[in-house]
Amino acid sequence: MRYGALEAGGTKMVCAIGDETGRIYEQISIPTTTPEETMPKIIEYFKMKEQEGHIDAIGVAAFGPVDVKPESPTYGSILDTPKLPWRNFSILNALKESFPIPIGLDTDVNGSCLGEMTYGSAKGLDSVMYITIGTGIGAGIAIGGKLVHGMLHPEAGHILVAPVAGDEKHCICPYHKNCLEGLAAGPSIEKRWGEKAANLVNRTEVWELESEYLAEAIVNFILTVSPQRIILGGGVMHQEQLFSLIRRKVVEKMNGYIRTPEMEDMDCYIVPASLHDDQGIMGCIRLAELALQQET
Ligand code: ADP
Ligand code: ZN
Repeated sequence: MRYGALEAGGTKMVCAIGDETGRIYEQISIPTTTPEETMPKIIEYFKMKEQEGHIDAIGVAAFGPVDVKPESPTYGSILDTPKLPWRNFSILNALKESFPIPIGLDTDVNGSCLGEMTYGSAKGLDSVMYITIGTGIGAGIAIGGKLVHGMLHPEAGHILVAPVAGDEKHCICPYHKNCLEGLAAGPSIEKRWGEKAANLVNRTEVWELESEYLAEAIVNFILTVSPQRIILGGGVMHQEQLFSLIRRKVVEKMNGYIRTPEMEDMDCYIVPASLHDDQGIMGCIRLAELALQQET
């Protein structure tokens, strides 16, 4: 099979062609500006690829909030986003008008979670959490093999955390006084320390604080979601020293309350994204495959 994949992000749209093995033949990136400008470029790309060979289905993983309920009249629309031109725009309808083939859709982070479960470090597991720590913080969750949607879809990046003493005024989330994204996403690190996060490698206090917030949130996620593995991706997690800090603090904060083989083996429990930052686009390939299976 030949699948189209669209990872629709707030800053860029990654379009790719691949197959069910997760192999990506090629991918391009288009800046996310307005639907009027961006969508025709995406459609043009897939039209061009269609001329080279039939595309069986397309998978889309979109920035949110996005309507992921197939039974909803606004299924596939971006909802209440601060990116005003995209508010109430239906990515799904725009694609459907040009491509009358099965199209699967989920959130960007659920896409990455699915990518890791299908092709990456969560293969064979059915309850997994994928957390991205980048421009924002978001989490994709699968339980019992199914990506979690619920009422809307999880927005676990905004979980409330206790501010560390002396760090009470550093949350930059416009909605919350102290939430994980507002305190620990890339832009927050940069505002607090006045320097690009990538340039702060040698400042141990930066990563000590960062891991404190991430560990606190992760303990809460373990207690509520009970995932079999937690995958951490996104630009900030390129700071590899964070992993050992986070693992140690999770064990400390959990304080022996949950005793499972997974919790005894933190190096395998909290792991980096394993697909060279292709987990999102590979998840889209799987979404396409699932959409095709559902319609045939
Ligand atoms: P996005 O979240 O927009 O999809 P990324 O996952 O690449 O994109 O995250 C971008 C954020 O990650 C920026 O805030 C940037 O400062 C931070 N970042 C990127 N590379 C690094 C790095 N090597 N170390 C620490 N932070 C980084
Ligand atoms: Zn928030």
